[in-house]
Amino acid sequence: MRPRLVLFDIDGTLLSSKGAGGRALKGALKETFGRLGRVDDYSFAGRTDPQIVLDLMKRTGFQEGFIRERMTLVFELYLQRLREEIRKGPPPTLFPGVLSLLEGLKSDGRAILGLLTGNIEGGAKIKLEALNLQDYFSIGAYGSDAEERNRLPLIALQRARRKSNDHLDKEDIVIIGDTPLDVECAAGVGARSIAVATGVVGREKLEASGADYLFNDFREYHRVIEAIFRQDR
Ligand SMILES: [Mg+2]
Repeated sequence: MRPRLVLFDIDGTLLSSKGAGGRALKGALKETFGRLGRVDDYSFAGRTDPQIVLDLMKRTGFQEGFIRERMTLVFELYLQRLREEIRKGPPPTLFPGVLSLLEGLKSDGRAILGLLTGNIEGGAKIKLEALNLQDYFSIGAYGSDAEERNRLPLIALQRARRKSNDHLDKEDIVIIGDTPLDVECAAGVGARSIAVATGVVGREKLEASGADYLFNDFREYHRVIEAIFRQDR
């Protein structure tokens, strides 16, 4: 049986930060740029943090170069604010079945668990630590590694190869996420995709995204484990 590199998205898939991430980023943008512009019609879901910063501030009228020069500052402020938002509450919550799924995979031995997330690495760490999830994942590819989510699977694969004695290939990758962008990112490298409808995207849109598997949540976590290890899709 071949090993699997199982890559989890964070927001909407493992946990809800109860808006802490969005509030922290908006606050950091406002502090850095002096104004935020319209954000209500923009969806953060499935996008990387740097991409969100660029999209929002371009719409507000700033030049790309001007935005990029301030990216480091934005993320410094963001991390401070994120810690603060999480401390203030409401506390982040795990989605049903997540813990059983992670425990099941951890004890299975055939899976290498990792993260594939639009969060910058520091933000991912803060969110995971709030729920004590950090130790489940041995590698990660983050929004701080690449602005385009679709570049993250190969970054994750490279990192996993350095950690593992198994010969890992693109088709051993399983990407688990809550948006059509997660599914697209899997399809781009021929990885298996598992979509879960615990995020803000409705089930219909996920059905239309062409995910290999779709679950309402991870309550029936052994069915998810089965989907991860099935020989054929
Ligand atoms: Mg997500």
